Amino acid sequence: MSKEKKKSIIIELNQDLIKNNNRLAEENNNLLKKYNIKSFDVVGAIGAGKTAILESLCDKLSGKYKILVINGDVTTRIDADRINKHGVRTIQVNTGRECALNSYHITQVIKNIELSEYKNGILFIENVGNLICPSDFILGADKRIIVVSITEGPWVIVKHPLLFKLSDVAVINKMDLIDVIDVDVEKMIKDAKEINPNIKIFKISANSGANVSELIKALEL
Ligand code: MG
Repeated sequence: MSKEKKKSIIIELNQDLIKNNNRLAEENNNLLKKYNIKSFDVVGAIGAGKTAILESLCDKLSGKYKILVINGDVTTRIDADRINKHGVRTIQVNTGRECALNSYHITQVIKNIELSEYKNGILFIENVGNLICPSDFILGADKRIIVVSITEGPWVIVKHPLLFKLSDVAVINKMDLIDVIDVDVEKMIKDAKEINPNIKIFKISANSGANVSELIKALEL
């Protein structure tokens, strides 16, 4: 087989993969909508604070909504256990060698639980920790929330344009450390707005709880 032919076959397979993923994502969203469940895909690097933000959101929202959290991780269930302690049900999905959740993972979860228990509630999905792989795989969530922290350095946004382009809300976390970290947060915000003018950006501290209420308002929860 010629080099060109091999190449074209690989591209076709990738297109099928994305097409199948998108189709399943649409089915996931339809199923969640059937039960009026609001859904959010939370992406970000390891250590950005995805789990900490979810802990804070669960504390503030679990009195008002029934919440389910799906935690994606390559091997551990550390994050799921952390969120469990806040009285919220978590389902761990270990992806093995995959560096992102895909819509099939979500299908497997939501088709195998009693989804009606979460009617009018919330599904948070914590994606596998990195800012690259989740770009290719939508999950069927209503909104994608991207989390970065000021400790990741000034270039974290410009170096990951695709995921910023494909997100609805950006959270800049660890603002409680602003006095000891040499980073220009307003420049980070400008970078994000240049990549995606429609993205809503919130400077928060999951640790202190600062501005988490503003984030909740923006998520219409
Ligand atoms: Mg986490």
